This record gives sequence, structure tokens and C-alpha cells, in this order.
Amino acid sequence: MSYSYWQDQTTRSSQSFSHYDMVVIGGGISGLSAAYWLKKEDPSLKIALLEKGEIASGATGRNAGFITCGSVEHFNRLVERWGESRAKEIWMFSETNLELLKSELFAQLSSEDLGELGFEEKGSFSLASTDSEFAELKKTAELMAHQGIEVETLSSTEVEQRVGGVQFSGGIKYIRDASIHPVKLCHLLQNATPIDYFPHHEVSFIEAEGDHRRVRTNKQDFMADVVVLAGNGYLPLLDSFFADKVFPTRGQILAIEPVPSFMEGPCYANFVLDYFRQLPNGVMLIGGFRQLEKVTEVGYSDHTTDVIQQALYEFLQTHIPQLSGKKVTHRWAGIMGFSVDGQPFVGAKADDPQIFYLGGFTAHGLGLAFHSGKCLTDLMFGRTLPEFISGRRF
Ligand SMILES: Cc1cc2nc3c(=O)[nH]c(=O)nc-3n(C[C@H](O)[C@H](O)[C@H](O)COP(=O)(O)OP(=O)(O)OC[C@H]3O[C@@H](n4cnc5c(N)ncnc54)[C@H](O)[C@@H]3O)c2cc1C
Repeated sequence: MSYSYWQDQTTRSSQSFSHYDMVVIGGGISGLSAAYWLKKEDPSLKIALLEKGEIASGATGRNAGFITCGSVEHFNRLVERWGESRAKEIWMFSETNLELLKSELFAQLSSEDLGELGFEEKGSFSLASTDSEFAELKKTAELMAHQGIEVETLSSTEVEQRVGGVQFSGGIKYIRDASIHPVKLCHLLQNATPIDYFPHHEVSFIEAEGDHRRVRTNKQDFMADVVVLAGNGYLPLLDSFFADKVFPTRGQILAIEPVPSFMEGPCYANFVLDYFRQLPNGVMLIGGFRQLEKVTEVGYSDHTTDVIQQALYEFLQTHIPQLSGKKVTHRWAGIMGFSVDGQPFVGAKADDPQIFYLGGFTAHGLGLAFHSGKCLTDLMFGRTLPEFISGRRF
């Protein structure tokens, strides 16, 4: 991102600035998580969080609210790519993410407040549309059971009885997954993190000024000892270092008017590409079908498209009889940051160790970012972090 000389002269004064120990850029789950753990590590730190929109106006406020363990692939594919022990490490990292959310943020809440947060631990289902996918799911379940990860296999009749889905060959259930209202989660995290928030502050660039870093925004400048980049799909616009590491990728969702509760838990289908869930109030969400328009579902536009929206609706009409003829109430899209190897990353820039970053959550930020924020604090304070998440791999 850049500003012209003329814009710079009229929108801000480059002479004035506020000084902070740390500036975090990005008000989604990753920026908030980083700020939370940094403040917890050292309550005396003076931290500013800069966000170009509002808190949770990016992908975090536009997702489906699945807090899913694992990654963007079935466990058997993780094993094929990374080996069994690394696949388990990746899986356990996300299980710990949920445990950390519970112990740090949810433990103090009443059951009424948890209900308000939409937090549910109902597991999640992966459903197979074909026999060959079901064969792969059964292999995944075997591998997971071998690693001591709780999983259950379901026949096509059981899929119908438990989640209302028809025309599926079968499925598996991951026992430990959860779901939430993602914007309310961000507000909870914000309230638990007493720092200075600056919404509507869009960072244009960061420059070294002696021992400090000047962070330029459309409103004012900030001077900081340390900067944390948590801009998700926008990271390549903040720093060209990310140009070949993070790819802005669009995801679309639609919501359907409430129907009486019928699903035991949230579901994935088509090799984790498509997903649907019923909210506690009966509203149904479905997202995915990016595979239909791979070429256009990249970049920074958050428009929805007719092809994908139609496919989402037809999928529900075909597979979920309870939704027959029900009306769509909302359609939206958001920009995800897909990493080049599908795994998240936490690091410090090799050419500027005062600039830290976290991202690359590849459609799984709710299942990964809170733990990643803790890893970022570990890195900053000289502790080790899991190798698979380290930005040093780039
Ligand atoms: C349709 C859809 C469905 C999804 N479903 C799920 C799901 O069910 N479960 C799940 O775990 N994940 C899901 N995801 C992915 C998940 O939303 C992301 O992984 C997660 O939100 C990433 O968090 P973040 O904080 O890194 O990014 P964001 O929430 O995008 O936050 C980054 C913030 O940085 C701000 N920013 C960027 N550039 C600048 C700048 N120059 N100056 C100031 N601020 C800046 C942006 O405005 C944004 O608010 C989904 C995503 C989409 C789009």
C-alpha cells in the first residue's frame, strides 16, 4: 500500500506520532491473540492495536465459527505430507488452541454468558459424498485412532439420523471440535486485553528510524520498539516479504432462515472444502465451493458470485431435506490468508528482528490463532516454538 505526496500532505502530519513499546497491526483473532499474550507476559507493556476497519471486520468476522482441530486437510493427507508424528503435532497444536481458549477466556464465564457467546462443544462431522471419499475418511479415522485422537465412524444411515444429511456415503466425527460466534469471541478477547485500540487506522508502511519503527497510518504515525504484523491475507500489501508466502483467497457463505434444531454438530463435506452448521438459534450457514471458481476466488474483493452462491444453496437443497424451500437471509464473502504450505507461521523478519508476524491460517484461524499468539510471545521472550509453525522455514 502507498500514499501519494498529495494525500500525505492533506490527510496526516508526518511530524506527529504516539510512542508505544509495541504496535500490533490487525484487529482479527490473530492480532487480538498476539496482544493478549504479550500483555499477559508483561502487563507494563504499552501496546497499540491498529485496525483499518473495526475489530473483527476482516475474515474473523466473516467466517463460519468452526473451531476445528487439525488443518485444511484430512488427517491421512497430513500424514502423507508431513509424516505421522508431525501430523499428530499439528493436530495437537490446534487441540491445545481450544484448551487455551477455554482456560484463559471461557473458564470465568457463566453458562449464560457461554450461551451468549454461542460456544458449543459438539464435535464436527466430515461427510463423504462418494464411496471413495468414505474409504479415505475411514483410513483417516484409523490413523487418528492409532495416534490416540478421538474419532467415530458413521454409516450413511447414521449420518441421516444425527445431522439430517442424505445422499452421503458415510462420515466420521471428530469428537473434540467446537464452534462459536466469532465476532463475540473477538469482543471477549478485546475486553480481556487492556491496550489502546485504534480502529479506522490503516497502515500504509513501516520504516526504520534509529532504534524505533515508525508506523504510518492514514490518521497519525506511531513510533514503536516492536511491530507485530497480523494482517492475514493483506500481509503481502504490508510487506513484500509475504508476496510468495501468503495468498489472499476468497471464501463465501450464505445464511438460511431458522428451522427447528436437527443437527448434532457442524459438518464438512467434499474433502473439507465445503462446510455447514446450524446455529443455536436455528439459522443455517453454509460456505465453500471455492473449487468451482478457483481463478476468480483470489484477491481482495469481498463480493459474492452467483455461481458459488447458487451451488451453496443447491447443496443444502439436495442434502438437507429440512431446508427445502427455505429462504436465504444473508450472503457474504471474506478474504483468507492461505500460506504456501498450508500451515500457519510465526516469526521475526530476518532483515529486521524488530518486526514480528503471525498468519497463514489457511481457513482455520479460529482453531490456530490463539495458540499462535502465545507462540509469538514465546518467540519474542526467547522461548522455543514448534518447528512446524516457525517462520524460519521460509
Ligand atoms: C468465508 C470464510 C469462512 C471461514 N470459516 C472459518 C471457520 O469456520 N473456522 C476457522 O477457523 N476459520 C475460518 N475462516 C478463516 C478465518 O476467518 C481466518 O483464518 C482468521 O479469521 C484469520 O484471522 P486474522 O486475524 O489473521 O485475520 P483477519 O480477521 O482478516 O484480521 C486481519 C485484520 O487486519 C486488518 N488489516 C489488514 N491490513 C491492514 C492495514 N494496512 N492497516 C490496518 N489494518 C489492516 C484487516 O482489516 C483485518 O481486520 C473462514 C474465512 C472465511 C473468509
